[in-house]
Amino acid sequence: MRSIHRKELLTVTLPRQRIAILGGGPGGYEAALVAAQLGADVTVVDSDGLGGACVLTDCVPSKSLIETSNAMTLFNRSAELGIAAGGPATVNATRLYERITDLAHAQSRDITSRVAAEGVKVISAHGRLAGPGTVRTDNQEVHADAILIATGAMPRILPGAEPDGERILNWRQLYDLTELPQDLIVVGSGVTGAEFAGAYLALGSHVTLVSSRDRVLPQEDEDAAGLIEDVFRRRGMTVLGRSRAKSVTRDGDTVTVTLEDGRTVHGSHCLLTVGMVPRTDGIGCDEAGVKLDAHGFIEVDRVSRTSVPGVYAAGDCTGVQMLASVAAMQGRIAMWHALGEAVHPIRLSHVAATIFTDPEIATVGVSQRAVDAGEVPARSQMLPLATNPRAKMAGVRDGFVKLFTSPGSGVVLGGVIVAPRASELILAVSMAVEQRLTAEQLAQTFAVYPSLSGSVTEAARKLMEFTPDSP
Ligand SMILES: Cc1cc2nc3c(=O)[nH]c(=O)nc-3n(C[C@H](O)[C@H](O)[C@H](O)COP(=O)(O)OP(=O)(O)OC[C@H]3O[C@@H](n4cnc5c(N)ncnc54)[C@H](O)[C@@H]3O)c2cc1C
Repeated sequence: MRSIHRKELLTVTLPRQRIAILGGGPGGYEAALVAAQLGADVTVVDSDGLGGACVLTDCVPSKSLIETSNAMTLFNRSAELGIAAGGPATVNATRLYERITDLAHAQSRDITSRVAAEGVKVISAHGRLAGPGTVRTDNQEVHADAILIATGAMPRILPGAEPDGERILNWRQLYDLTELPQDLIVVGSGVTGAEFAGAYLALGSHVTLVSSRDRVLPQEDEDAAGLIEDVFRRRGMTVLGRSRAKSVTRDGDTVTVTLEDGRTVHGSHCLLTVGMVPRTDGIGCDEAGVKLDAHGFIEVDRVSRTSVPGVYAAGDCTGVQMLASVAAMQGRIAMWHALGEAVHPIRLSHVAATIFTDPEIATVGVSQRAVDAGEVPARSQMLPLATNPRAKMAGVRDGFVKLFTSPGSGVVLGGVIVAPRASELILAVSMAVEQRLTAEQLAQTFAVYPSLSGSVTEAARKLMEFTPDSP
């Protein structure tokens, strides 16, 4: 008998479910792919280009810039590694920014082709909810059995520090510059601020990082944040702690950041990285009864349902965890739920994340803060990279591997890796957390010699030594 394809079966036996998706970033387009795979009739309404801010202005461009800055760091260390190069490297800013924007647009085109190949209809327009089951643009109405809102977020504007797009900038405006900022002041020392400050320092700008808190990366693992701050200072960055910016003004080619205590900092450019606000204004949430929190984020449960039946939300507009991987998972879960598939609620405690500084900081599972606060009983082991043979060969001195395990069972609960390409190394820890492997199982896994991942198995071995009932 001829086997029946799932898509065919659904088409034949059920009325085709109609899905409308507002926003074509990772939250929206990944959902569209899943819904199409399940045989739904899918329409995406997007105003700025598929891939969303993730691909066009935020994640992809910033990581591309960082790739260049990493290459620059390596190039400038060439003498130390035994290479005689002709003096310090310099940046061709026009070529750099061209490469970044070309790459972002190419990625957006790839996504557009992929989505089209799955039969998803795309309407390039600004859209809004217009009553239950309807998304409206200026000249079209899309009727749907379920709607997903995935409109993302945009840079927060600090009153008194409005970007002018030339010298006072948000990160989306950097790629329009024709030169490398000579003297860059970065306001905000969260993930985005730290990534750009580090990247521009490596590219050759003089960088001042203005942090309102005691230290950079205040939300992150304290050991990792402390290490990055040391690296920044050692490489010549000026880091101003406990310095809250009050205003940013421009006079010709000079920008001035005035701090709340009256001090001023002068530079050629100022980059503002002071957070994101959700794009939920004017998209019909109030009229449709979709509940927002006090900051304007859409409230959702762990299967992406909003307060209105049949309306789901995913990604940055929900504020759940502002990562592309989380947006995509929320979007997929919404579709599995809406289309009647078995679905697991999202597990945020298993999300692997990376801060793309140099070295990178990658984390998964329980945090040191939760352990210190007594929220999670855990044993921990931190191993500096300085003793790792591969690190020595590469001249890497800054970094560590930290693992957390459950005191009773030895199950790996989480970890922090600070290393070059920690974003790749964390997968081993991530798998251990997801699969509930013990330190012993991780320790018994072969790591290549010599390799940075050898420090992961070594840290696990050290945790075995501390297991009270181990032989
Ligand atoms: C500088 C920076 C670097 C980052 N780096 C990383 C990283 O390395 N890794 C990571 O995981 N995450 C990273 N992120 C976060 C990541 O970019 C976001 O979490 C991700 O973009 C969220 O996806 P989304 O689908 O919710 O929204 P977006 O990507 O913002 O997409 C939303 C889409 O909706 C469209 N839209 C909005 N309103 C409407 C409307 N009314 N009608 C029609 N269309 C509309 C927009 O045009 C856009 O295309 C970074 C963020 C920043 C700021």
